[in-house]
Amino acid sequence: MDAPPPLPTPNAPAETREPSLSKAPPAGKLFPCLKCGAKVEFDPRTRSLKCPYCGHESTLAAAGEADAVVERDFDEYAARLASGPPIEGRSSQVRCTGCGATVLLEDKVVTEKCPFCSTHLENQPEAAAGMIPPESLVPFGVDLRAAREAFDGWLKGLWFAPNELKKVANLGQLAGVYVPYWTYDAMTYTGYSGMRGDDYTETETYTEKDAQGNNVTKTRTVTRTLWYPVSGEVQHFFDDVLVCGSKSVPGHLVRGMEPWELSELEPFRAEFLAGLKTERYAVDLTEGLGVAKHMMEPTIDQLIRRDIGGDHQRIIDKSTQYLGITFKHCLLPVWVANYRYHEKLFQILVNGRSGKVSGERPYSWSKILALVALIALVVGGIIATVMALKKPPGVAHQPQRQSRRQAVPHPGRRRREGEPNAVVQAARAALPELEHPRHHAVPAPVGRPRHRTVRVLRD
Ligand SMILES: [Zn+2]
Ligand SMILES: [Zn+2]
Repeated sequence: MDAPPPLPTPNAPAETREPSLSKAPPAGKLFPCLKCGAKVEFDPRTRSLKCPYCGHESTLAAAGEADAVVERDFDEYAARLASGPPIEGRSSQVRCTGCGATVLLEDKVVTEKCPFCSTHLENQPEAAAGMIPPESLVPFGVDLRAAREAFDGWLKGLWFAPNELKKVANLGQLAGVYVPYWTYDAMTYTGYSGMRGDDYTETETYTEKDAQGNNVTKTRTVTRTLWYPVSGEVQHFFDDVLVCGSKSVPGHLVRGMEPWELSELEPFRAEFLAGLKTERYAVDLTEGLGVAKHMMEPTIDQLIRRDIGGDHQRIIDKSTQYLGITFKHCLLPVWVANYRYHEKLFQILVNGRSGKVSGERPYSWSKILALVALIALVVGGIIATVMALKKPPGVAHQPQRQSRRQAVPHPGRRRREGEPNAVVQAARAALPELEHPRHHAVPAPVGRPRHRTVRVLRD
């Protein structure tokens, strides 16, 4: 990682801004009291959330105070909730020895394979552990046939895919899985310090030597930046920050299925799960909150930069506090295919609502090599044919001229060791029009003064 560039030297007095609120919670939204769970009203300007039922109060830490109080309350709150009842009809669970997923088993279904890695779930099922039950889900909108079509369409666009991969979809190895997700809402308060840079222009005088060697005085306009320290606070309400609760699919594949339309969430009913697999969340509520906070960072940085204003901004320090954290545990529909190629697991996910495919794919090296060999063969054939047709009778000295030109190394192209000289020449002779643009391909550097001494005289 590159070290950050050194901070500019301030050349104007510091400025402290009033807090700016970019987005408030929607009117009427209630927040859980982290002590008793009652739903409480919350005005973000009061910087605290007070429960009228049990008297518990979550307050923002003042400057210099440890600010982990709200987080500690949230951890305790999450721990209390985590002992909730298992999902109806899924009274046992089994942990996959292959990828670590905990699959909630459908009652009365005997054997199952892990939907994420196809490992046989041979472990003894155990009673489903307490969990925060899902409160909503997005039902499957893409059925198995449509998912296969989406998968096939994705495969058709792939180059050099091994034939085995093409069979995966047809073998019906797409498993419908409800993948656990968390969504988080939170009111954030971020105090920051940074620097603002305002550009201005100045005319400066300088001298240079002209062609005759005389000193000539000239002027030019230069852009300079006035830097000064700025501090302030940005306040923003985050709504539905979506965090995947599974660890059995890599993050980039999960993101590849996005976007999800969370307005399609329906209240949870166990019937939706029949015949489909359901994973128990592997990322718990507290860990998921950490991920959500991380996902909020770029937006917060953007808000800080906007608050600083000017032409350039540098963020030196920032600290975010969270109030009114709410969450939802929901299940999202995903078709999963998985496939091993040379011992490596490849997963292909299909968004069970939009049909968007997000997959990893292996390359078949034998196919690539076959194509390279074919190209070499075809190109060789074309060159040979053109040579045979173009060689004008009685112009025997032409190849000599060509090789003389070749002797001067072109700046834009250095021939590699062992590259067949004859082929290069033949190609040039065959395609003379390529000679012309080649000379323009490596222009002299533009905009950089060459061999000119510029002395700046400043008053
Ligand atoms: Zn309370
Ligand atoms: Zn597995």
